[in-house]
Amino acid sequence: MTKYQYLKLKHLIIGVALAAFLITLVSSLWSGYRVNVNTIKANSLETNRVYAQKLAETANAYLDGSFQILGYSAETIADDMDDEQILIKETERIKMQNDMFNSVLITNADGLVLSVSPPSIEVQGEVLTSPGATEALEQKVPLVSKPYEGITGRLLIFISHPIFNDAGQYVGLIGGTIYLKEENVFYKLLGKHYYDDGSYVFVVDEDGRIIYHEDPTRINDEAIENKVVQDVVAGNSGAQQIVNTKGVEMLAGYSAIPLSKWGVVSQRPLEVALSPSMDHVKNMTFVAMPLLVFCLVLVLWAATRIARPLQQLATFTEESLDTKNVSSLESVSGWYYEASSLKGALVRSLSFLQGQVSFFKDQSITDPLTGVTNRRTMDALLAEWTDKELPHSIILLDLDHFKSINDTYGHAVGDKVLKFLAENMQAVARDVDICCRYGGEEFILLLPNTTVTEAEYVAEQLREKLATTVSPCGRAVTLSAGVAEYPIMAATTEELFEAADAALYQAKQAGRNCVIIAGQEQTQQI
Ligand code: GH3
Ligand code: MG
Ligand code: MG
Repeated sequence: MTKYQYLKLKHLIIGVALAAFLITLVSSLWSGYRVNVNTIKANSLETNRVYAQKLAETANAYLDGSFQILGYSAETIADDMDDEQILIKETERIKMQNDMFNSVLITNADGLVLSVSPPSIEVQGEVLTSPGATEALEQKVPLVSKPYEGITGRLLIFISHPIFNDAGQYVGLIGGTIYLKEENVFYKLLGKHYYDDGSYVFVVDEDGRIIYHEDPTRINDEAIENKVVQDVVAGNSGAQQIVNTKGVEMLAGYSAIPLSKWGVVSQRPLEVALSPSMDHVKNMTFVAMPLLVFCLVLVLWAATRIARPLQQLATFTEESLDTKNVSSLESVSGWYYEASSLKGALVRSLSFLQGQVSFFKDQSITDPLTGVTNRRTMDALLAEWTDKELPHSIILLDLDHFKSINDTYGHAVGDKVLKFLAENMQAVARDVDICCRYGGEEFILLLPNTTVTEAEYVAEQLREKLATTVSPCGRAVTLSAGVAEYPIMAATTEELFEAADAALYQAKQAGRNCVIIAGQEQTQQI
């Protein structure tokens, strides 16, 4: 798996933070919505219950008023049942003065209609045989009938009061009708509840039959299967969430009308009631948008800040051994604990590693005793120089009578003398020159772009310095040197060495403590 297939820490942090933020946002919106829904439902149910109760009280007061008016009228006309004019006036008065009934009529004890208003209802002189009238004539009490089809073919309710004369004899009844499928008193009492949003009010009789509904085609329908209707015809009031006959979820309030055992139901579609709640969620989301954007920016910023040190440390770690500069790691800001610890650990381990690496590198190119370049490196350098045909000179030098220094002062002092020689070589050498330990107490100085004369001058300086300076053995030591130049004296490194070695041999032969240029016989002796 390459590094590109891994998720980046920054993206991981952003992902986790955003997921947490979104989950919080959605869950708070959801719980807000649920709380809102429950509140709205409870409020809507209560509103419908109170409204149904109010309408039921109004309807009850209407029935009560009807009975009082009819009762009073019954008393007035009880002794004038044979006076047609009085009866006609009385039906007209009730019909006209109170807009309670669609028609008003008076019958005798046998149900024969003595008077009717409006007169257009042509039942005068007929005997009422409809269930409502028959029941009232039989029971001889104030009565509200069930809906039935009257003589005229209309669906109606008959509200009647018995008439007893002074002698206490039952002489007939006075009653008013409500035409259920036409404009009637319910519309005035209950108002026209044609809401666009699907809310409506309806009234059922004691059998659960609809006697008032916004939709006239529903009048006279059986609604007893409806749970709310069952409850209200049982005389109860309350509120419930139900599914209506059309399968729509409704929030219904209901209340019984005591005088008639009717019930009023006021209901509102659940969806309509809840629509403000959805608006509420939309508003909340809208209001939360600036916060969302702010959080996004914050998360991006924080993720970048958190990821940056680790990212930089990762990059440095990848490149650390190539770029020798551990100190650039110091520029990484480890501003929190983990990054700081990681950085510290990296700096320590990289410094250690680089120390090790440079130690082993030095070990491979230098001589451990004197610190100058070792022979293997020198061979490689000279091969490179001859490859490039770089002109150069070499000074091959050997300490004089070194064996006796070892023998006299000991091997350890001998070693110190070798170091002393190396230091002096480095002191006279230029930056471009290379000091090298060639063998036991033999050294070479490589001088690029240097003529043999210049090299001889350097060798002479070193010889003189050594011969006039006290060495670690307590006295000055001397050296002999042979100098040769490439390419004028030799075509190869081997030939160059042979030439220098021959010059050195000559220097030894000449009595030591002198420098000899290859191919020249003259010696310099002090
Ligand atoms: P000459 O003037 O002819 O050069 O005489 P010399 O005694 O210096 O003879 P030679 O150069 O042959 O001697 C080399 C001696 O250097 C032999 C050995 O004991 C000594 N030697 C070589 N390597 C080391 C070293 O690493 N440390 C010490 N102390 N002595 C060394
Ligand atoms: Mg030697
Ligand atoms: Mg020697």
